[in-house]
Amino acid sequence: MPHPRGALTPSRTLSDLTWLRVGGPAEWLFQPADQEDLCTFLGALDPATPVFPMGVGSNLIVRDGGIRGVVIRLGRGFNAIRVEGARVIAGAAALDAHVARRAAEAGVDLTFLRTIPGSIGGAVRMNAGCYGAYVADHLVEARAVTRAGEVVTLLPGDLAFGYRQSHLPEGWVLIEATFAGKASTPEALIAKMEDQIARRDASQPTRERSAGSTFRNPAGFSSTGRADDVHDLKAWKVIDAAGLRGARRGGAQMSEKHPNFLVNTGGASAADLEGLGEEVRKRVFQNSGIELEWEIMRVGEPAPVGGT
Ligand SMILES: Cc1cc2nc3c(=O)[nH]c(=O)nc-3n(C[C@H](O)[C@H](O)[C@H](O)COP(=O)(O)OP(=O)(O)OC[C@H]3O[C@@H](n4cnc5c(N)ncnc54)[C@H](O)[C@@H]3O)c2cc1C
Repeated sequence: MPHPRGALTPSRTLSDLTWLRVGGPAEWLFQPADQEDLCTFLGALDPATPVFPMGVGSNLIVRDGGIRGVVIRLGRGFNAIRVEGARVIAGAAALDAHVARRAAEAGVDLTFLRTIPGSIGGAVRMNAGCYGAYVADHLVEARAVTRAGEVVTLLPGDLAFGYRQSHLPEGWVLIEATFAGKASTPEALIAKMEDQIARRDASQPTRERSAGSTFRNPAGFSSTGRADDVHDLKAWKVIDAAGLRGARRGGAQMSEKHPNFLVNTGGASAADLEGLGEEVRKRVFQNSGIELEWEIMRVGEPAPVGGT
């Protein structure tokens, strides 16, 4: 292993770094001091060692056996936010909510980020969005460090955004993103965000341990068979229709408040959460013929047989 200035910790548990509070250890956890440290480390790392960049773990189930290779988690050296006219430039470790607030104070509308609990790196990688706006609608450019330790600038076309996804080569670490937003008054933007927070709290289990929507909304269905009647279904409705609101496995539960939210009610393992999700997929298919697709990313290895 290279010897960076930042913290490089062997066998570091990841459960306290994820929203669901589950998961085994990273073989190595690297928290680079700054961009130069990250570049030097990646440049010196054996190219055969797997690299997994993580944000704040709000869209992850880390399996109980942990993650092989190096998990990279950006911190203080990567969380600066600055506003230049209608553009907001944010480090990848900055929280979406902080970026939205800072933009609003400067009269720039990035309010869609306010209720997404992740970091900017995770937001770009996942093309995060809500209330009809996505990262793809606002991203001007992003900067990333390649697996060889070089800094590159990526334009939206390079990231090939799709619904809750983007294309980023394996092991590349996003370090900064530049967004553009419409101009408005800080007062109007702050009121808009307060409204969004209230709507969230009314419909989602925002105070429980979850990773947001578990499954994507099934796309392209038609109740009449007509081509002009194609629409998306709501994942929570098909889960509810299969009688799975509140379904449990160990400490894992499909939320009573929002059946597409998988929650750790306390003491769940990653296997409980993923197992319940797979059971829901199976029973929804039996009930409606619809194949739900995971939106939560599941990463790492299952616990060794006979282990926890
Ligand atoms: C209560 C709740 C509500 C949510 N609501 C929404 C919502 O409305 N809309 C929405 O889109 N999502 C929502 N989510 C899901 C989640 O917040 C988003 O997907 C978020 O963008 C993930 O960011 P993160 O920093 O937590 O990334 P992580 O979960 O840590 O990682 C997600 C992916 O991003 C990659 N990644 C993270 N940082 C970097 C980086 N620096 N460089 C390269 N890759 C990186 C990881 O490798 C992984 O592939 C919600 C989650 C919760 C818990």
